Amino acid sequence: MPPQAAILVRDSPEASEILVDALETVIKNPLGHAALNLVAKAAGMGEYILTGLEVYMYREPCLMCSMALSHSRIKRLFYLKKCGTDGSCGTRESIHTLPALNHRFQVFYGGFEDRRGEKRKAE
Ligand SMILES: [Zn+2]
Repeated sequence: MPPQAAILVRDSPEASEILVDALETVIKNPLGHAALNLVAKAAGMGEYILTGLEVYMYREPCLMCSMALSHSRIKRLFYLKKCGTDGSCGTRESIHTLPALNHRFQVFYGGFEDRRGEKRKAE
């Protein structure tokens, strides 16, 4: 299985700009998940709150990463592969829609080519 990766993107009608990318580093640190590394890198670059930004990931994020994405206030998450063991954005849990949280975000999975469509929107 390829390492988990995450990319932070600012999307606009004119262009999409990659702001930050991150890989998982769990061999060195149990908290080294790609989404957590991405949020930390973005914060280090002055992007403390990720309002309006999009995150792209290879696999569906776990519970811890999903909560980090919610707290970071991303706009949308896209991922390619569902994760049956701990996927928390549509498979095992749906953190992105939890009413108890004060921020929710849209989730799309299965492909990036039709990312503006609603067909692949996770439940
Ligand atoms: Zn994670």
